[in-house]
Amino acid sequence: IAPTAELQALDAAHHMHPFTANAALGAKGARIITRASGVRLTDSDGAELIDGMAGLWCVNIGYGREELAEAAARQMRELPYYNTFFQTSHVPALTLAARLAELAPGDLNHVFFAGSGSEANDTNIRMVRQYWALKGQPERRTIIARRNGYHGSTMGGGSLGGMAAMHAQGGLPIPGIVHIDQPYWWGEGGDMTPEAFGLARARQLEEKILELGVENVAAFIAEPVQGAGGVIIPPDSYWPEIQRIVDKYGILLIADEVITGFGRLGHWFGSQSYDIRPHIMTIAKGLSSGYQPIGGSIVCDEVAHTIAQDEFNHGYTYSGHPVAAAVALENLRIMEEEGIVARVQSETAPYLAKAWASLADHPLVGEAVSRGMMASLALTPDKASRARFASDPGTVGFVAREYSFGNNLVMRHVGDRLIIAPPLVITPDDIDALISRARKTLDQTHDHLRR
Ligand code: PLP
Repeated sequence: IAPTAELQALDAAHHMHPFTANAALGAKGARIITRASGVRLTDSDGAELIDGMAGLWCVNIGYGREELAEAAARQMRELPYYNTFFQTSHVPALTLAARLAELAPGDLNHVFFAGSGSEANDTNIRMVRQYWALKGQPERRTIIARRNGYHGSTMGGGSLGGMAAMHAQGGLPIPGIVHIDQPYWWGEGGDMTPEAFGLARARQLEEKILELGVENVAAFIAEPVQGAGGVIIPPDSYWPEIQRIVDKYGILLIADEVITGFGRLGHWFGSQSYDIRPHIMTIAKGLSSGYQPIGGSIVCDEVAHTIAQDEFNHGYTYSGHPVAAAVALENLRIMEEEGIVARVQSETAPYLAKAWASLADHPLVGEAVSRGMMASLALTPDKASRARFASDPGTVGFVAREYSFGNNLVMRHVGDRLIIAPPLVITPDDIDALISRARKTLDQTHDHLRR
């Protein structure tokens, strides 16, 4: 490959990075990743990094699995593309749909494929509205979502998401989507106990339904654990209360499992970890461990059977793409054969939880929490009062992330939170290495702030 500086110059001149101030990045130069194996990335200078984020929360089985490359090549030779519109289907898409119906809980037996999580959430918006229209209640159109939730970057996905920085640009949200507060106890819970706060935040759903009129509400969407919002783990009281409210008012529940699906919380789906019963689950990322772009909606009998009564005028060229579907099937086969989900629950997540919690003694750390293979730290100037960094909430996290990168550890920051979500196959030794780099990062950030 060309020298790093040459690659960086080309990148800066022509490549627009998502979620990035490209002018600032261009001046500094992107880190160019060239290869990866297991949980480790290699850059164009030959440095090796621990990928604490599994790419973007997606490389669940780790990098470099030859079987997935073989599955892709085999499928490309046999049938590289065909569509699933109208009256045609093909073996990879139908086999994957059947396999997902087997894995998904309850009567989530039907799959509408998309190319990504954002596209799948756009599908969900249209599907729940069409469902109520076919039920003779077309005025039930409003979807309730949460502030600081993340559901993608399309007009629909970005609108369901409650990211203020996204809503500030490009005309989001689209009409018919409203937001309630997130169950973020450490940051917003004040003097309440986590349990009381979880209940209060869940009851905002009921208040919002009553304010809008239940006859106008189509669905509630949420991530079992908010990922991009900063790995916000809800108090235990939150989800049972949400389920009670959804049941009481008969609105549809959409669990966005794009991150929490496929083992991240120690079950195949996060909904199982929290014992919730969604009507639709959004999936992507870990479905193929990120080896191919694929997403979708897993839909319950009632919604799918209703939608089936009329033509659903919606779909993507790459819905059920055969190569992506073949790779996803092979990914799921490996995950099952190697018992990866069960191992997360019995070994890897407990090990990570203990190691991660050890960071709580650091003077900068307000809380160090994890659920399954998602973990986060709150950075604080004062632990006792759960104080937030005042000026620009992004600053301290940004500094920490830069040190982390310098320490060859990929962590992400969201405002004043540092987060990880490593490949599910990470070993105890690699978790130890990750923790020691994270601690060094915290020490450097602490020194930096005192300068
Ligand atoms: N939903 C959640 C919960 C996500 O975390 C993401 C991506 O991070 C998406 C949806 C959007 O998925 P994609 O980036 O594949 O469009």
